[in-house]
Parts: sequence; C-alpha cells; structure tokens
Amino acid sequence: MDIDDTDREILDSIERWAERELRPVARKFDHADEYPDDIVEQMKGLGLFGATIAPEFGGLGLSASTYARLVMSIASVWMAPVGIFNSHLIMAACVQRHGTDAQKRQWLPRFASGEIRGGIGLTEPNAGTDLQAIRAVARRDGDAYVINGTKTWITNGVYGSCFGVLVKTDPAAQPRHKGMTMFLCEKGEGFRAAKKIRKLGYKSIDSAELVFEDFRVPAANLIGGEEGRGFQQAVGGLELGRINVAARGAGIAAGALRDALRYAQQRETFGKPIAQHQAIQLKLADMATRVEASRLLIEQAARKYDTGQRCDLESSMAKLFASEAGVENSLEAMRIFGGYSYSTDFDVERYYRDAPLMCIGEGTNEMQRIIIARQLIERNPV
Ligand SMILES: Cc1cc2nc3c(=O)[nH]c(=O)nc-3n(C[C@H](O)[C@H](O)[C@H](O)COP(=O)(O)OP(=O)(O)OC[C@H]3O[C@@H](n4cnc5c(N)ncnc54)[C@H](O)[C@@H]3O)c2cc1C
Repeated sequence: MDIDDTDREILDSIERWAERELRPVARKFDHADEYPDDIVEQMKGLGLFGATIAPEFGGLGLSASTYARLVMSIASVWMAPVGIFNSHLIMAACVQRHGTDAQKRQWLPRFASGEIRGGIGLTEPNAGTDLQAIRAVARRDGDAYVINGTKTWITNGVYGSCFGVLVKTDPAAQPRHKGMTMFLCEKGEGFRAAKKIRKLGYKSIDSAELVFEDFRVPAANLIGGEEGRGFQQAVGGLELGRINVAARGAGIAAGALRDALRYAQQRETFGKPIAQHQAIQLKLADMATRVEASRLLIEQAARKYDTGQRCDLESSMAKLFASEAGVENSLEAMRIFGGYSYSTDFDVERYYRDAPLMCIGEGTNEMQRIIIARQLIERNPV
C-alpha cells in the first residue's frame, strides 16, 4: 500500500523512537508494573495523542492505514504503551465523529496535545459483550445529568482524567440501545477510579474500575447533544478499533518472530545453530507466514476504511487472524527459546502474556467469527 512521504517520515521516526526509547526500558517497567510517565511525555511530543485527530484540531490526521502501521511498529517492541494513546484516541474519535461543533472545538485540541488524556468506559462488572445490558444510569437534573454506576477494566482509568462513558438515560427503553447515551466525564466529585486491576500482562498501563456516585456532568457534555445515540456511537468505532487491535496482535507476532529468528541463529545444539534444525525451521516459516498474512489482512481492511467502504467483514477477519497470530507466534517463540523463554531476562515471556488480550478486546474472537459468518451469509444469499 502506498503512503506519502510525510507519513513515511512519521513511521520511520516512530520506529527509531521505539527502538531507542522503548526497547531498553520495556522489561523494567513491565516487571515493576509501573506507569511510564517519561514515555507518556515523549508520546505527547511525538503527537501520538493526536495521531488520528484532524489537523484543524491540532492532530496529525493519520489515515487508518498509516495508523495501523504505526501501531504495529510500536507493538512489535512493547505493546502496552499503544494502549495509552489508542484508548484515548477512541474517546477522541467518538467526539470527532459524533460531537457537536462546540464539543469538537472545546475538547479535540486538548485531547490532541495530550493535555487531557483518557479513554472509553463501556464495560461493567456484569456487561461486556452484551453491552446493552449495562446498568449505569444518568438522570437529567436541570442543566446537568446525575450519573450512578460502575465501569470496569477501563484502560487509563487511574492516570486518565476524562472518559467517554456509556450509560442508560432510559433504562426501560425497547430496544435497549435506544435508551443509551454517551457522556464525556472529567474526574471530580462523585467520579473516581476505585481500584487498579492486577493483570497477567499488558502491564505498566492502568486498567481500573471507575465508580460514579451522584456524579454531576454538564448536559453540554452529552456527545452529539441528543440522548439515545450512545450505543451507535460506541459500536460505530469498532471497525477502526478492530483494525487497531489487529495491528497490535500483528506487532506482537512480528516481535516474537524477530526475537526467535535471532535466537535460533545464536543458540547451538548438537554442533549447529538450532535454526539449522528442520523442526525449528518449520516454526519460523509458519511464524513469518502468519505475520505477512496478518499485515495483508490489516492493509486490506484499512484501505477499505480509508476509502469510505464498508469493512466490517474485513476488519473482523484482520482482528481474528492477527490476534491469534500474536498468541501463536508468542507461544512458538517460547518453544524456540526453550528454558530461557521462562526467564524474565528475555522479552518473549512478555509477548506471551500480552498477546491473549488482543483476542478479547474490541469484541472477542468468538464474536468476530459470528460477525464474519453473518456477513458471509448476507453477502452470498442463495
Ligand atoms: C486489559 C483489558 C483492558 C480493557 N479495556 C477496556 C476499556 O478501556 N474500556 C472498556 O469499556 N472495556 C475494556 N475492557 C473490557 C473488554 O472490552 C471486555 O472484557 C470484553 O468486551 C469481553 O467482555 P467480558 O469480559 O464481560 O466477557 P463476556 O461478555 O462475559 O464473555 C465471556 C465469554 O463468552 C463469550 N460470549 C459472550 N456472548 C457470546 C455470544 N453471544 N455468542 C458466543 N460467545 C459469546 C465471549 O466471547 C467470551 O468468550 C478491557 C478488558 C481487558 C482485559
């Protein structure tokens, strides 16, 4: 896929930055599960918090194709920092696509600079895949709404200050989605991060439970200004979201291949590098093929997205294949590293812990298969 010189320059500089700044510290931050403040400051300087925000609001305005490459390149070194700007950009995209002109002017420049950072609050303790089952409610009170409820697993929940939060403004509505509305909520009295969730992987980045207790949010923060559109606003970004998660999975798959390829040429058994044993070669070949296939599926979906074509089938296929590729390649890298794969002195154990998340986020892979099958049937009626 062709990209212009400016985008090429951005991608090259991000690649160099990831090698120079992320690779040396990734292991340390991951093992300490420590938030990388300095990296976040650098990401602000690189414009990553405005990567997909339109230039008129101070962002870089990258296409889905370029953004996916950027994500893949960072994730091949360390996936977690991608979540810090990606979840933030999902919130920003919601305002950019569905917000009123006043909301765009008020919020997007401060999102783009990273002055205000945050994410998206959809999931609740009892509702993930079945999003319409959420229980958080907002009740109108004068020129504000009063929100009560709990969100969980929210990326950037501790260190972020502003979130796109999906609630019910009409809990009795049928169909259920007609009673759902999205608000931009800034932390303050009645809205706090209650607990940081301890995780298998995707460390250093905070995932938290957010609690709303009689939290008053100005009516002006209702995204789009009209109740009942929140569900569409939340799921409307999923095609792009899936392309991004696919790029993270493909990044991990590529990182696992890169490390395994190097290690297999250095580690010797029975008088030769293990890369000369056919059993290892078969693994490397499958790993490389998965990376290339993921890349092509992502490019196909992103190209369709950028040209305004429908891409639900393509983005689901890319998400499904590339996220599974991340899991498979990280496990194969573990096998190639042998006992050393268990050592925290190498990165492959991190890839192995980080990869499964991509099979869950932006719609589980079970749901992706269902979406793909439905699309196949719809597009091929008998
Ligand atoms: C590290 C991390 C970060 C996250 N960040 C965010 C965030 O920033 N914001 C946010 O809102 N959420 C976030 N999430 C939540 C995530 O989006 C949900 O975990 C995900 O949507 C799945 O929901 P669930 O965990 O409730 O699983 P469930 O919905 O309970 O699903 C459990 C299992 O049942 C399957 N299943 C469910 N329904 C069906 C069906 N109809 N047919 C077939 N199979 C089905 C699922 O595929 C899965 O295998 C995050 C999660 C994690 C782990």
